[in-house]
Formats: sequence, structure tokens, C-alpha cells
Amino acid sequence: MASDDLLAELRAAVGDQHVLTGERVRETATHSQGYVPGATVLVRPRDTAEVATILRACHARGQFVVPQGGLTGLVEGTVSHENELLLSVERLNRIEDVDVAGRTMRVGAGLKLQHAQEEADRNGLMFPLDLGARGSCTIGGNVSTNAGGLRVLRYGMTRNLVLGLEAVLADGTVLSSLNRVLKNNAGYDLKQLFIGTEGTLGVVTRVDLKLVARPSSAATALVACRNFEDLVALLSWVDAQLAGQLSAFEAMWPEFYELATTPPAARSPILPHGQGIYALVESLGVNADEDQERLERILSTALERELIVDAAIAKSDSERQAFWAVREDVFQVRRLGFNCSYDVSLPIRNMPAYLQVVNQTLRRDFPEAVIVVFGHIADGNLHIVVVPNKSGEAVHAQVDLAVYEPLRSVDGSISAEHGIGLERRMHLGISRTPEEISTMRLLKRALDPKGILNPGKVFS
Ligand code: ZN
Repeated sequence: MASDDLLAELRAAVGDQHVLTGERVRETATHSQGYVPGATVLVRPRDTAEVATILRACHARGQFVVPQGGLTGLVEGTVSHENELLLSVERLNRIEDVDVAGRTMRVGAGLKLQHAQEEADRNGLMFPLDLGARGSCTIGGNVSTNAGGLRVLRYGMTRNLVLGLEAVLADGTVLSSLNRVLKNNAGYDLKQLFIGTEGTLGVVTRVDLKLVARPSSAATALVACRNFEDLVALLSWVDAQLAGQLSAFEAMWPEFYELATTPPAARSPILPHGQGIYALVESLGVNADEDQERLERILSTALERELIVDAAIAKSDSERQAFWAVREDVFQVRRLGFNCSYDVSLPIRNMPAYLQVVNQTLRRDFPEAVIVVFGHIADGNLHIVVVPNKSGEAVHAQVDLAVYEPLRSVDGSISAEHGIGLERRMHLGISRTPEEISTMRLLKRALDPKGILNPGKVFS
């Protein structure tokens, strides 16, 4: 609990109505996954100067601070305890500037991703980061977790879309690394310290985003292949033929596809059940008719070459949305009960053997388990959801090991895009060497010597 004199200082800095306490914290900061905040104080600054004042006051007293954005993270990165104070960036939501010629946009860290996408669109451009939580997640949260999502294969992760940023360090120092140019090799690239570091090294307040030319047409198909090897061959073929326009290649193993297209799911199957693997393929271009024809031609050749066994091409925007709705209906897996979710990454060539090992271990330990796999395979990223048909912490730990341990031998990562947070920190050593982890600690000590920022996240 924050001391009375700290509370008085915070109220003076941001105004009484923006220092929430007690029940109001619980009402406004309960996570989308249901975690209730342990913290009993939440501060809502409106600009960088207020963030700096808050952190200076907290730093002087050794007060722990947990920064938060849209509360849609998946690894307990914003979980708070009673001795911590929440700092929400929700009011830092200004769009300051759009440079159409330079294709950049300067925004506050609290801006919702969807609002950033809409503003780019209004200016005839596109902000290509896209993920299911777009309506709730914030740019600051996207930056802090280096979010990935649905178009990484063409446009990269958040890191590739951030030209510069401003952050406030633990002691209240404002570090402006705002930058609107693509090329800037003037010394260390300090913004990288705050991208993907989950609020442990500073609080991101403003961001210069990179925008891209806006595609005006989408051609979208759902395909079925006999097996994973054919799907990988299809990916290479389609990518080469589309010459840079391939924007999504989302694999769905049959368990996922069937759950998402069987009642109580809202959608019926677009392609029949019973195939080896499915994928949603999308190209973004500038000429609807040409793009549609090109994708049809590519897929009919793939059919002749027996890379695919079936395909459906969306004929309208509503059909396209229906295809995507199947891929995004992750809820059908979660409703099966207690489940453990993963977002691992590994080289595409190692995926079949890796999945075989994971399956074998889980089938041995949990014969009733439902194992569901889908993901952005072009990025080497698999989402795995395991419903062990048992629950509890010991079960979760055992499933974790079954999924994580085999990653060691295949150059894999325990987190492709969600981050580490509290949930995965005990497994960090599977993906990072002792030297890497001690260098992370060195940076943490240098930038936050009192350890007040998001304590315990990433590593303890
Ligand atoms: Zn994903």
C-alpha cells in the first residue's frame, strides 16, 4: 500500500480523480483473462511530464510500479500485488502527428491499436500490426511486448514498425529517442531497450510508428493439404508466386479447424473435415480482379501439382471475414475447460518432429488430453493449446515441461510473441543462455537500480 504522503503527491501531480483506490482499482483494472489486481492504487497520468513526476516520487520511496496498457496480455505481465502501484497509460492516447510523405505517425502509448490503424487508413496509409485484441490493446503494450500477430511474415513484428520512442526511466528521467527516419545509425539504438522488455526498464510514453502503403484489395483462400510437408511446399510456392504480396499464411491443424467449424461454434465448415491440415492464405494488393485471378491461378497449379487437395477462395468481403472468423475463433478451444496455452517458435523444418515428441509425452501423461495446434507457420510460430482434462498447478507445470523441454534441441523459443511476464519466467533458461540472462540483469540494474519497475516480470 502506498504511503499517505506518496498518495498526496500523486494527487497533486495528476488530480484527485486520476488516483484510484480500493474497489475502483478492481473495477477498472481487472484483466481480460480475469486476474484481479492485487494493487490498491492506480494512477492515470495524461502526459510524459506526469509519468516522470509519478516515477520520481515512487523512486524516492522505493515504491514498486506496474505499468499497464489494455490488459490483454497473455503471460501475467501486468499482474500486481498489494505492495505495488498500477500506472495506466490509457490517457496518453493522443495522435500527435501523421507525416504522409515520410509515412510515420507519432502517437501516445495509450492509443488503442485499432485507432492507430484507423488513423493511418484515413491518411491513405496502413499501420500493418494486427492482432485479435486490436480493439482493446494499446500501442504501449504492443511495444512493451513486441507484439506479433497476423501479418508478421510481410511486415515484421512491432519492433520493425517502431522508428523511435520516448520512455521514462525508473528515476523519472525522460529519455527521448523519438525518431522519424528509417535510417539512423548515430550510436546505440536505445529504443530497443524498451521494445519487448515488458515495462521492466522504463515506461513507454510516446511512439513514432512506421506506416506502409495501403493495399486496396485482399484475396483470401482457405486450403487443405494432405500433410504438413505439402503445406510447407505450398508456402514456398505461393510466396514466390505472389512476389511480396503474401500477407498471411495461417495454419490450422484438423483439431483446431474442426472445433472452430462444429457446433456450438457459429461457423460451418468451408472445406470438409477430414483433411491432414488447413491454412488461410491471404495476399494484399492494389487490384481486386487481378489479385483474385492470380491467387486462383496459383492455387489451381498447386492443385495440379498435388500440393493441396482442396481450396476455397473468398468471393466477397463477407466471405473473407467468415474465413478469418474461423481462424480467430480461439474461444472454441478454451471452452473445453482448464487449458494451458503456448506460443512457441522453432524452425519450420523441425516442427513435425517437435510436435510428435510433444504429442507422445502428453498422450503418455494425460491420455484424455485434447491438443490443439494452429499458428503463423511462416514465422516459425505455433500456438498450442492443451486441455489436459485435469486441472491444478501441478498439472500445468507438467504440461509446461512437455511443451517447453523439447524446444532446447531444436533452436526453439518458449515465447514467439506473447512475452515472459510472471507466467513463463521459470522457463526462461530454456530459450536463453546464462550469459544472456546475466546481461539482462545487468541492464535491469543499470536502468532500475532499486528494482521498482514491474518487479518479478521476465526474471525474478
Ligand atoms: Zn499469434
